[in-house]
Amino acid sequence: MEQFRYSISSVIEPGIIDLDQAMQDTFSRSIRYLRLSLTSACQMRCTYCRPDWLRHCDQSGQLTADEIESVVRHLVARHGIHKVRLTGGDPTARPDLIPIIRRVAAIDGVRDLAMTTNGLTLARLALDYRMAGVRRVNVSLDSLDGDTFARMTGVNGLERVLAGIDAAIAAGLAPIRLNCVVLAGDNDRQLPDLVRFAAARKLEIRFIELMPMGPLAEQWSKRYVPAAVMRERLNPHVADWQPIDQGHESAQRFDLRLTDGRRVTVGFITPMSCNFCAACNRLRLTADGHSYPCLMDQPRGSFLPAVRPHFDAAHFDRLLSAALGAKASEHPAQGVAVMTTIGG
Ligand code: SAM
Repeated sequence: MEQFRYSISSVIEPGIIDLDQAMQDTFSRSIRYLRLSLTSACQMRCTYCRPDWLRHCDQSGQLTADEIESVVRHLVARHGIHKVRLTGGDPTARPDLIPIIRRVAAIDGVRDLAMTTNGLTLARLALDYRMAGVRRVNVSLDSLDGDTFARMTGVNGLERVLAGIDAAIAAGLAPIRLNCVVLAGDNDRQLPDLVRFAAARKLEIRFIELMPMGPLAEQWSKRYVPAAVMRERLNPHVADWQPIDQGHESAQRFDLRLTDGRRVTVGFITPMSCNFCAACNRLRLTADGHSYPCLMDQPRGSFLPAVRPHFDAAHFDRLLSAALGAKASEHPAQGVAVMTTIGG
């Protein structure tokens, strides 16, 4: 494609990608999707996600709204990124979120601007996010039981999140997906309730296998529930499972007909039992400008020197080609990073 035809041949070294070949990594995966973490701050304290030390994390070095706009504009105009997801931490913990959304949404070529959130601010701000330019949201919902929710997330926030989901529906932030990390001993017996909740609101729900990273990494084998077991738990409530083509989706998705006759789309995100690395089309940037080739890998350099004090496109592309060259064929067995700084 024409927009990729520029030369950076002087920087091509082993393990470094020639961006003349469009945004492809060493394994010929086309990179079209930017996951941008806006902050590592979050209002929740999920047991599987947030280590205690992050409470006192300094946010002062994070990319400014100007810098974010320059980075996204460049990635869209020069490298064919067309899908952007704002994540965190929680993106809504960032005070300048609305202006950031406006700036990113206004970039010519951003066709799909989505956001992943814990849902705590949606009851108040869903319409503002929509008006600023977010098209759709993924909302974390680990339980419909107030106690389980509070135990897993560290906040007494179930009612607020449920009101937020309804506000997101009313604001037209569609399609809305619910994300639920499944933990043995916490919510693993509650999946049918969650599926019925999603069916009643015509939302998609995705159950996520626990990854061995973050605060539960050491207990992973005790808390991990494979997707096959999740499906067994749902089976008595399901009359028919129709697989949906996965494409670049990270989830194995099914159109379910429940025994009560309702239909619902259910996905299983299976990083552990059946990884989806071959279809990975993502570039991940953190709030402080680091690039991560993968959720479970270590950071591969910072883009800050190419962004601050002024955006330098040639420098940025050299760092980008190195970052893509570091993208392994599959995720490592154990996560070295914390999901909440990278943005899941
Ligand atoms: N705060 C937002 C939210 O609640 O969705 C966005 C960031 S959060 C890090 C993104 C996703 O990562 C959430 O769905 C969360 O449940 C998931 N997550 C965090 N730690 C995880 C782990 N160890 N294993 C699997 N999923 C995890």
